Amino acid sequence: MSSETSRSAEAAATPAANGGAGGTANENVAARLAHYMRPGESRFFALPPLALYVHLPWCLRKCPYCDFNSHEWRGAAAEGSTADSALPETRYLDALRADLEAALPPIWGRPIHSVFIGGGTPSLFSPAAIERLLGDVRALLPLEPACEITLEANPGTFERDRFRGYRAAGVTRLSVGVQSFDDAKLRALGRVHDARQALAAVAEAAAAFETWNLDLMYALPGQTLAECEADLAQALALRPPHLSVYQLTIEANTYFAKYPPALPADDLASEMLDAITERTAAGGLERYEVSAFARPGHRAAHNVNYWQFGDYLGLGAGAHSKLTFAHRVVRQVRFRDPARYMAQALAGAAVAQDDEVAREQLAFEYVLNALRLREGFELARFCERTGLTLQAIAAPLAEAERRGLVTRDRVRVRPTARGFDFLSDLQALFLPPG
Ligand code: SF4
Repeated sequence: MSSETSRSAEAAATPAANGGAGGTANENVAARLAHYMRPGESRFFALPPLALYVHLPWCLRKCPYCDFNSHEWRGAAAEGSTADSALPETRYLDALRADLEAALPPIWGRPIHSVFIGGGTPSLFSPAAIERLLGDVRALLPLEPACEITLEANPGTFERDRFRGYRAAGVTRLSVGVQSFDDAKLRALGRVHDARQALAAVAEAAAAFETWNLDLMYALPGQTLAECEADLAQALALRPPHLSVYQLTIEANTYFAKYPPALPADDLASEMLDAITERTAAGGLERYEVSAFARPGHRAAHNVNYWQFGDYLGLGAGAHSKLTFAHRVVRQVRFRDPARYMAQALAGAAVAQDDEVAREQLAFEYVLNALRLREGFELARFCERTGLTLQAIAAPLAEAERRGLVTRDRVRVRPTARGFDFLSDLQALFLPPG
């Protein structure tokens, strides 16, 4: 259920996309690679770190606020599940392997910085399935030493000791989607779990993993400040090494967009965020990114790579990739529907669409991510990751400084507290003209 998978790709596909260039799957992969490698105006002298994202698209039930590529698996929810109603684990894993094999030429030789298995609800997959997945990944890709491998898990979707099975399969970090400890709020969010199951999941996570994340939401339907504070107090009492806190927002094409619940007013939501920021700090968690809080040594390496405009290969239904080549940055999107994705991936053609990030868009895309980090970004890294000179952001940077939204020295740009509070205004200064 990671936000990185929600980006839409609207530009036209390259001639090689869709596996529809008329050749064999191998010929189409080669044609796509040649297309990515052709000369161009930009110059990238160093490639950024490369992460791997794997999307497992099924959930027990679709939450009414969710706009991720997640699909209800009705079979899994059926009373007394039979083999026929089980998830198509084996076929999906076969598809992921075929997808990865076809994705190798453009990333050949690049080590993998981190792995994130997201969804959907990955904890619907058995530990044996995750072991096979990670075995395939290790067989085909060089993982960096101490590579962080995160798996998303939802309370109410696993039996006891399943988390230990994931740990034994090679997962190093668990991210638990708790959202709230209040049964009424969990019902309003359409979650399948209750507070008791959330607490049990966190206890299992803490017992099985040295590092783990707890996801919490605020500004929930009808939520008061006191209720938000009670949720946070419960979360902090569990001493999570990492906490992600998101405001509930109404996204297009969701049940809540059609039937909007009564949400707290903006002023109240701001008060909640102030309380969250204050109490997490008092609890020893540093707000190192707009929505992410961590104890020393427990930042999410995978997410930091996104925020630093690193590269990522996304495998699985609807997964997104961002890949840098000598002369361009390319985004890819895999087929979104799980059945279609499996068929396409097994035929060696999982990429539905790919497009080059326009040169004039790169500065904005960079700051959109990098200014989410409390420590901002190094000027040299901006040049390295965008292939642009500092001239490209000189004017908006000066304006942001004049408005008190950033500070800077010769090395680094940092958002101020005000810049953090008005992040979208700050980011908008970097939009390309027109
Ligand atoms: S558990 Fe709910 S929010 Fe998470 S991916 Fe599934 S449907 Fe979306």
